Amino acid sequence: MDKLNKLDGQELSYFIKSAAAELGFDIVGLAPAGPFEETQARLLEHIEQGRIAGLAWFTPDRAAFACDPANLLPQVRSIISLGSNYLIEESHEASQPQGKVARYAWGRDYHEVLKEKMTALYARLQAYIGPDAGEGRFLVDTARIVDRAVAQRAGIGFFGKNANIINKKYGSWIFLCEILTNLELEYDAPGLGTCGKCTRCIDACPTDAIIGPGIVHNDRCISYLTIELKGAIPVELREPMGNWIFGCDICQDVCPYNKKVLPTTHLEFQPTTPDISSPNLIEWLKLTEHEETFRQKFRGTPLLRPKRVGLRRNIAVALGNSQDEAALEPLRQALQSEPDQNVREHLAWALQQLESNQEPLS
Ligand code: SF4
Repeated sequence: MDKLNKLDGQELSYFIKSAAAELGFDIVGLAPAGPFEETQARLLEHIEQGRIAGLAWFTPDRAAFACDPANLLPQVRSIISLGSNYLIEESHEASQPQGKVARYAWGRDYHEVLKEKMTALYARLQAYIGPDAGEGRFLVDTARIVDRAVAQRAGIGFFGKNANIINKKYGSWIFLCEILTNLELEYDAPGLGTCGKCTRCIDACPTDAIIGPGIVHNDRCISYLTIELKGAIPVELREPMGNWIFGCDICQDVCPYNKKVLPTTHLEFQPTTPDISSPNLIEWLKLTEHEETFRQKFRGTPLLRPKRVGLRRNIAVALGNSQDEAALEPLRQALQSEPDQNVREHLAWALQQLESNQEPLS
């Protein structure tokens, strides 16, 4: 008889949870891998109502695919849902005009970090069980699976009104990732909890992206506007974006569940450069002037994702909102040398904002 047959689901689950904790995952939940039918119905409604309008590739077929883990691993039986706390306190002394970057991007690219850890976890499992452990499928923040619904089913947390998964200990300051496996495990109870009467995230969102409990209008969300959106940022949303240049933490910052969370101890998520938590916008305008300096500064971080032109476009908007006259000359110079038409339009908008704020000459 091989080793797998001698192990029951309970022993395997215990092994997985202990190994995951040793490897630095803060939360582990185990869930059966059946289709996510309710989530699929909800996603189809979101698509129909135009709430995912900015992501043209997210079609009903894509939603159906993401809601059945068997599409990724035909023999899948279970999902190991994992979470890592990434809360880091801001410690950098900011200089004006200051921009803001969402916390999740301050450290090394979490896709890489979590994939490394999942690979190590599954290797341990394979060494423990033998070849019958089969293949694992590792997923980090991809639209190929409904990761938050997985986390809820696996008991990691519940859905907040801001559509994030909220864990009782770590709030929503968690990276989520999943391993699909053909192993039969002992499952956790789904995550339960509620926001109660709280509506702080809905009230605080400056672009009114949260249009109801758990319903986020994707193409109004600052995260989408600063990262996913390729072209021009709609003019009416530029001012409400304030000084966010990559992602946004507002709906998490105001959440009472996030108030008592202790900062992460994981070194990988510590800031890659001291100024990433509160960049000086004029300095970053300069370093996004050339592809080379941009790549050098942000190598290995999620800030490469919007590319040089996307980040520079966002910096222009934040400078336009800064009301800081010191930005006038750098913006004029940037406008003269910038070859990208879309970035130029945002630089010109920023200049116009600042110039219209200046006192008229007497
Ligand atoms: Fe829920 Fe309030 Fe947190 Fe929003 S801010 S997710 S409503 S508890």
